[in-house]
Amino acid sequence: MSEELGYIKVVDVKHYGYCPRIVYITHVLHCDEVVSEAMEMGSERHEAGYIAPLIARLKPVKIFRELKLDSDRLKLSGVVDYLLITDLDEYVVAEVKWSEKARGGVKFDHKLQLAAYALLVKENFGKDVKRGFVYYRVDGKILEVFLSGGLKRFVERIVEEIHRIILDEKMPPVKVTETRCMNCGFSRYCKPSALSGEVYKQARSRRGPE
Ligand code: SF4
Repeated sequence: MSEELGYIKVVDVKHYGYCPRIVYITHVLHCDEVVSEAMEMGSERHEAGYIAPLIARLKPVKIFRELKLDSDRLKLSGVVDYLLITDLDEYVVAEVKWSEKARGGVKFDHKLQLAAYALLVKENFGKDVKRGFVYYRVDGKILEVFLSGGLKRFVERIVEEIHRIILDEKMPPVKVTETRCMNCGFSRYCKPSALSGEVYKQARSRRGPE
């Protein structure tokens, strides 16, 4: 699906979960994220071995890898790393992240991403996805996420909000912490007031030359 048709991607949901302003930067300003070495490594083709413990646990009868899905209703598309179908006909989504987990477990933006894939699976296969998994390569851990109806409805509202930001071309206010801005690959375009003086210079120098 293309942007011309008014579709957004699941990565936009992930970005919104990190900071809604990223949606404005990518879709209205058309600026791309500064790609770090870790991100380049993460974009490499996923190996089935990464989720071997999950396969051993679920014993799926079918595995789709890098499956493209879309929804006409939500105008949303995405490529899920893995969709596993068990012998009980349970549909499970899984993502591989070249990063570490959050202190409390799965990162919030990754939960939203899994819930967005669950919505796409529902629309394409007619199956409710009740749980997903994230494999964090830095930690070497696979973590489970319960994908509740409330979380999926929350993601539907986020999808609506993303379309609205793109349509209105109005920059969302900064509602994230300075730490998050420091680790954001879009800070050079954003120049948030949350990052001022020396802190902003440090963030910019970590992202390389403009
Ligand atoms: S630098 Fe901060 S405010 Fe700007 S997009 Fe990134 S996280 Fe959001």
